[in-house]
Amino acid sequence: MILKTENLSHKYTSTWAIRDINIEIADPGIIGLLGSNGAGKSTTMNIICGTLNQTEGNVYVNDIDLRKHPLEAKKQIGFLPQIAPLYTDLTIDEYLVYCAELRLMEKNKIKAAVEEVKERCGIAHFASRLIKNLSGGYRQRVGIAQSIIHKPKLVVMDEPTNGLDPNQMIEARKLIREIAEEHTVLFSSHVLSEVNLLCREVIMIEGGRIVFSDSMDAFNNYA
Ligand code: ADP
Ligand code: ADP
Repeated sequence: MILKTENLSHKYTSTWAIRDINIEIADPGIIGLLGSNGAGKSTTMNIICGTLNQTEGNVYVNDIDLRKHPLEAKKQIGFLPQIAPLYTDLTIDEYLVYCAELRLMEKNKIKAAVEEVKERCGIAHFASRLIKNLSGGYRQRVGIAQSIIHKPKLVVMDEPTNGLDPNQMIEARKLIREIAEEHTVLFSSHVLSEVNLLCREVIMIEGGRIVFSDSMDAFNNYA
């Protein structure tokens, strides 16, 4: 199983932000996490990526228990948070090396990995530019590049097409499809048409609970 969550639940305050989230992803592809603002998408994704500790429940990535073996599990996960922590005073090269080091990649493999993701994400020709001088679309590519640099099995992308203009959105979608040829992608959005265009399966979440989980075709017959 690429990803399994068991009764994942989280409270920030006294109320449950998410409750009994059970996800099973067995096959590669792009899986949509669809829900309105405040539905619980970011909470779910932050827990799966190990940046937030759940109140209850379990997460297994590639059958590894995230709580018991966090370092092993995190090797299998790439994360593009909604607000990507882009250190804008770094060049693309400097930033990607820094991200690879954070991922505890072996020193002698970092240079080749940086070159490879820059090519894949179409940012090689900008490599010595400061991130702060890039457009939103190119910054998003840098964010995507850091999420795959350690070749994770699963890449979690929190609303990656949010705030992009139509052209940037087309480019981002193309890149996400290419990435999905080698990595399973969990893609969140509050926009149904985005999920419809990209995803083979959809998990719909409302008020912190899963209300639908099946193929995109089944969703289109249901909704
Ligand atoms: P989504 O990503 O689908 O917009 P979130 O996971 O961000 O949803 O939020 C789910 C619920 O948890 C919302 O009611 C939100 O206000 C609440 N929430 C999110 N983050 C926090 C936080 N840090 N502290 C308190 N409540 C939060
Ligand atoms: P999203 O809906 O995609 O999660 P938000 O704008 O709700 O984005 O959240 C942005 C940030 O604010 C996140 O870090 C989230 O955890 C935090 N946040 C959201 N809701 C609350 C809340 N009710 N109380 C405190 N922090 C919150």
